[in-house]
Amino acid sequence: MRFVDEFREPELISKTAEEIRRLAGTERHYCIMEVCGGHTHAIYRFGLKDILPENIELIHGPGCPVCVLPMGRIDDGLAIAQQPEVIFAAFGDMMRVPGTQGSPLEHKARGMDVRIVYSPSDALRLARLNPGKQVMFFAIGFETTAPSTALTMMRAKAEGIRNFSVFCNHVMVIPAIRAILESPDMRLDAFIGPGHVSTVIGCRPYEWIAQNEHKPIVVSGFEPLDLLQSIVMLLRQLRNGEAKVENQYKRVVAWEGNPAALRAMAEVFQVRPYFEWRGMGSIPQSALCVNDKYGEWDAEQRFAVPGIRVTDPKGAQCGEVLKGALKPHQCKLFGRECTPERPVGALMVSSEGSCAAYHNYEHRKAAMVTSLSAIA
Ligand code: SF4
Repeated sequence: MRFVDEFREPELISKTAEEIRRLAGTERHYCIMEVCGGHTHAIYRFGLKDILPENIELIHGPGCPVCVLPMGRIDDGLAIAQQPEVIFAAFGDMMRVPGTQGSPLEHKARGMDVRIVYSPSDALRLARLNPGKQVMFFAIGFETTAPSTALTMMRAKAEGIRNFSVFCNHVMVIPAIRAILESPDMRLDAFIGPGHVSTVIGCRPYEWIAQNEHKPIVVSGFEPLDLLQSIVMLLRQLRNGEAKVENQYKRVVAWEGNPAALRAMAEVFQVRPYFEWRGMGSIPQSALCVNDKYGEWDAEQRFAVPGIRVTDPKGAQCGEVLKGALKPHQCKLFGRECTPERPVGALMVSSEGSCAAYHNYEHRKAAMVTSLSAIA
């Protein structure tokens, strides 16, 4: 298959759903975590939950980078931007993420120089255009986006652009999965592996999950048929008592990943001993920081960083939702104090956040059904 429409073909989807029902049977319950926020979004957007049998439970994982960023890091980035002549540059989905004193967008409304960029190289361009200012790029993302940050820093170094720096918040997927598997309330049977991250890291880094933890993992694409086929592949393994890594997304993901991207990351970054994840606490060796070779372009070395640590707002249950212990609508604030228009937690900000995805599709669908039945 070559075109998107083919991955949304109704007849193939219903045949695959039928195969899922046959494999799932009725004798047991299956808990499958989709690690990636892009998968969570696709599952709600395409209504896939509605065509799965009830004994297949999809648990939303921590693979949305905006969602796992603790509030303290946002406050730190904004504190840097309060210093004279600093431009705060970040992707659009960072703009509404709440810090303790408001989001970057609210700081912009109060006069801070905050700019939305579409790539790290846009931020570098800003630095070229504003030689009298310091441009700080608030870098965020898993291994998917880390290579483009690394390449931009390599270019800044090659061109000698010294008014550009990176506040690095890149995180790594494997330690997050390890933390979930070590969590005492872990109740997972299998994983749908992240598609985007795997284009960079490949499939090999997941092998320990199958070998040591005996959990099947299938790296999946993002179309409805991709996800349903991945569930079929997982159910086949579970029914056969197998645990291995499989690649459903072969049209994009190479088993060994992208060596050029991995080389760029290795050139610029090193692994942090610890990093704080929202709702998951401090996870060892789970994030990247800039190495000494690129220290001149590291915002944490260039500026005074307060190192703010804050707890989540009262009542917010982002941590439990991130670990899959609660469904989004089970959070006490969901749909009341916390909505996509006025988010309390970061899971309600990004379209990949499980709370935002649930609110935008499931919650609105339920509200529509209620109002339609009232009319009838
Ligand atoms: S509803 Fe809001 S506060 Fe509750 S878990 Fe989701 S994002 Fe966090």
